[in-house]
Amino acid sequence: MAADTVFGKIVSGEIPVELLAETDRVIAFPDMNPQAPVHILVIPKSTAYDTVVELAAAEPDTLAEMVAVAQQLAAEHANGEFRLIFNSGATVGQTVFHVHAHVLAGNLEERSLV
Ligand code: 5GP
Repeated sequence: MAADTVFGKIVSGEIPVELLAETDRVIAFPDMNPQAPVHILVIPKSTAYDTVVELAAAEPDTLAEMVAVAQQLAAEHANGEFRLIFNSGATVGQTVFHVHAHVLAGNLEERSLV
């Protein structure tokens, strides 16, 4: 259960963000510590899932919607091409346990790993 994370507070409006996209199930906003010319986070509004593995099993349609929103944002903010990263677990760098997609786009000269 991911209810108490910073992303839960963003979903509830407690922490304000610049909303770049919103659907019934998903929101997107800029990462506060960008690692690429375009670095956007796409998250489900649901606070029920810590990782993409859990989301994929329970709500595959929401995961597909996250990918579609990532594509739309990459087209709006770059040339439509993008890298999608899901950190799944603390040992690989996940720090916020509310599933989120890192959308990296723009001119990625280095193989940045978020
Ligand atoms: P993770 O390492 O869990 O995959 O990535 C979490 C990401 O969330 C980091 O890139 C970090 O910069 C971003 N982040 C953490 N807290 C906030 C916040 O309050 N606002 C925004 N916009 N991004 C955040």
